[in-house]
Amino acid sequence: MTAHETADDKYVYDFAEGNKELKDLLGGKGANLAEMTNLGLPVPPGFTITTEACKAYLATGREPDGLAGQIEAHLESLEREMGRRLGDPQDPLLVSVRSGAKFSMPGMMETVLNVGLNDRSVVGLSAQAGGNDRFAWDSYRRLIQMFGKTVCEVPGEEFEHALDEAKRAKGATNDLDLDADDLRGLVDAYQKIFVRHTGREFPQEPREQLDLAIRAVFESWNAERAILYRRQERIPADLGTAVNVVAMVFGNLGPDSGTGVAFTRDPGSGAQGIYGDYLANAQGEDVVAGIRNTVPLQELERLDSRSYHELLDIMARLEGHYQDLCDIEFTIERGKLWMLQTRVGKRTAAAAFVIAGQLVDEGLIDLDEALHRVNGAQLAQLMFPRFQLDHEFPPVARGIGASPGAASGTVVFTSARAVELAAEGKSVILVRRETNPDDLNGMIAAQGILTSRGGKTSHAAVVARGMGKTCVSGADEIEVDVPAKRFVVGGRTVTEGDVVSIDGTTGKVYLGEVPVMPSEVVQYFEGSLDPEHIDNALVRAVHRIMTHADDRRRLTVRTNADTGADAARARRFGAEGIGLCRTEHMFLGDRRELVERLILAATDTDRTDALAALLPLQRQDFVEIFREMDGLPVTVRLIDPPLHEFLPPLEQLAVNVAVAQERGEDVAKEEALLAAVRRMHEENPMLGLRGVRLGLVIPGLFAMQVRAIAEAAVAVTRDGGVARPEIMVPLVGAVQELETVRAEAEKIIAEVVGDSGVEVLIGTMIEVPRAALTAGQIAEAAEFFSFGTNDLTQMGWGFSRDDVEGAFFWRYLELGIFGISPFESIDRDGVGRLVRIAAEEGRAARPGLKLGVCGEHGGDPDSVHFFHEVGLDYVSCSPFRVPVARLEAGRAAIETTGSDSR
Ligand code: ADP
Ligand code: MG
Ligand code: MG
Repeated sequence: MTAHETADDKYVYDFAEGNKELKDLLGGKGANLAEMTNLGLPVPPGFTITTEACKAYLATGREPDGLAGQIEAHLESLEREMGRRLGDPQDPLLVSVRSGAKFSMPGMMETVLNVGLNDRSVVGLSAQAGGNDRFAWDSYRRLIQMFGKTVCEVPGEEFEHALDEAKRAKGATNDLDLDADDLRGLVDAYQKIFVRHTGREFPQEPREQLDLAIRAVFESWNAERAILYRRQERIPADLGTAVNVVAMVFGNLGPDSGTGVAFTRDPGSGAQGIYGDYLANAQGEDVVAGIRNTVPLQELERLDSRSYHELLDIMARLEGHYQDLCDIEFTIERGKLWMLQTRVGKRTAAAAFVIAGQLVDEGLIDLDEALHRVNGAQLAQLMFPRFQLDHEFPPVARGIGASPGAASGTVVFTSARAVELAAEGKSVILVRRETNPDDLNGMIAAQGILTSRGGKTSHAAVVARGMGKTCVSGADEIEVDVPAKRFVVGGRTVTEGDVVSIDGTTGKVYLGEVPVMPSEVVQYFEGSLDPEHIDNALVRAVHRIMTHADDRRRLTVRTNADTGADAARARRFGAEGIGLCRTEHMFLGDRRELVERLILAATDTDRTDALAALLPLQRQDFVEIFREMDGLPVTVRLIDPPLHEFLPPLEQLAVNVAVAQERGEDVAKEEALLAAVRRMHEENPMLGLRGVRLGLVIPGLFAMQVRAIAEAAVAVTRDGGVARPEIMVPLVGAVQELETVRAEAEKIIAEVVGDSGVEVLIGTMIEVPRAALTAGQIAEAAEFFSFGTNDLTQMGWGFSRDDVEGAFFWRYLELGIFGISPFESIDRDGVGRLVRIAAEEGRAARPGLKLGVCGEHGGDPDSVHFFHEVGLDYVSCSPFRVPVARLEAGRAAIETTGSDSR
């Protein structure tokens, strides 16, 4: 016995004993079978072996004590209820053995149908079915096939070949054309295959079949593909699967029988209606396997009107009961309908919003629940441009949607070629088997990236997401031949120069150029689609749910914007201020010359002149931004990057100087510049002379910026506007740094502002770990903190993003050191702890201290929840992420912590 196990642990539950809330214990399938049973729906009787039994088995390699006896008891009661005994030669009970974990893992685990058939009971089954030999032998051959494949690892192709062979011998194309004798022969062939691969006869003892199948389901939890799937979907590895043992019902008894799947609404668009497929005279797995063509579910009305209408009634009941879109598996046995599975169905992002809106209209759920049922990742998906597709445009391959978006371009196979063609203004798609750090330049140059190997955590996927670039990874139908500069897919050869289109959301790959259409949701946010006046279910649902999120949220959402134009756009997206206005760009373009003069200044006068020339230019920039954000707060960050970033690169400068000297030209100025660049070279620029350090070293630099901000605010106010500047000092690690800057800034502000009524706050970024740890001291000199979580992550972990994302993040993700890149989503335990400490100690020192975040995490769904929990006042993110942050801030406000939205 393991530590937690006692002799009377209950490992087996009858369907009548469970309910839908018991997913942890009974798995999703088992919990929902129990729920349907208790609703009085026609579910074949059966029982569920718990995930606890599975966990105990996986931990010790044997069934826990008591399990065998409990299975025996439940089997006996099932036999009594059915009036048949498992595998009885005269009148056999058959069962299915089905896996079912808490979270659905489609196609990842195992199911065996028709357990209980053997060389003798196959005859009894035929008699049971009124002498239907064909049906009995068909069921038996299915058992050997599924049992062989999933329990004993016999390669599935072997059985498929034998089936094809039998059809060929008969001159048949359809498995229905095989008669009882053909199928008996096939059983014989299958049994030989079984012996050949396992070294033993196909087990004839029904109870042994059952036990081996249960064990195989337990073990399927740790099959390689299941492990990979869990990693990708971030499903915990220690949940285990339940096993459902269900009395068989037969869809393969003849034309009045069949099997199907259905959705209560369209999982693609959310539209109301009946969506499903039906296949007459077949067992469940045939629908999914696609061995024959299914018919639309509506056809069932003609084939079996009574069952059809019963099914519609049940679907309506299930929807009402689950208050959500349900998907369903059913079987009809000689005109009698049986429900075999239901669950709340997966859906596209658009359908999630539309359905949530419809359910509110139908009075089934309230707006809080609607808000809970959608998420920021879905909203973000809806904001990417999409391919405009119709049915005539089938994909040639399908991989993993690794980084969303829609991209078309010329195929290239090397990084170098990608850079070349991009420089000519061409849009390119970089196609590789997999990428590595050498491909980085090509990935930057490309419009999109397509690989034939690797999953969501491959190098290509991680780097592409970091760059916001469209990527499809692991499209394994594509055979890439880099030296020959071509790939082959479905018998077609695509060479360099051909055009392909990739959809980073769905993972689909198309040949040729597919037209791209803008997102309606973005058009709505931009104000060009009025939800009240257009007939667009998606836009109306998004509008409604966003409005509710805004009502509910406590966090304010600001944007990161550097120009008036960015600010205007973000405001349309709902930004309530600017959380980060970087001033770097105000030193670029035609202002470079002035910056060079500043850097090269030999005397105080030279430097003062350069700063004086920059002042009016910066002031004008701020005037534009304050005007756009009239009445809303604007946090302006004083200059942050090292100054050498404003000078030409060393190598280029050295070459220019050498060439000019050769020509005998006057190079005094270039030489001075070169000397300055050499002098300013840093080994670790990220940790060098930047941020507040620059302000303390270069006299007049911060003073000029502070003056420009204050003067702009006064100018806007004089024109009747309201400017609310907040001056933010970057990279502070010690309160003394901030005090020094503040003393100088306060003097300038007092002098400029006078009696204009303008109020200017002074605060700091918290992005150096030391600042977080001394937040109590720093708060004495700061009216606000803004967490710069990008730098805080870099310095907290001790790695630079540019270096590490391409170099080893994929490996860390593969090893599970990261569940997700800490640049994508805040590392709650480490970097998040720094945020928490700084927030608490800062507020303790200065009640009312304003707290926000301005790193990219401000637009990441999970991080927004964290910032809500920590009690920040606002998040700030890129304009495009503003709606996502609004939605998630609303969801955070209505959700108790720890609820899962999977
Ligand atoms: P999956 O999770 O892959 O859908 P299931 O356990 O649902 O696997 O079973 C595979 C197929 O077998 C489904 O179509 C299901 O409806 C069918 N099936 C399962 N159990 C029974 C049963 N007792 N009688 C008839 N069909 C069954
Ligand atoms: Mg199923
Ligand atoms: Mg920073």
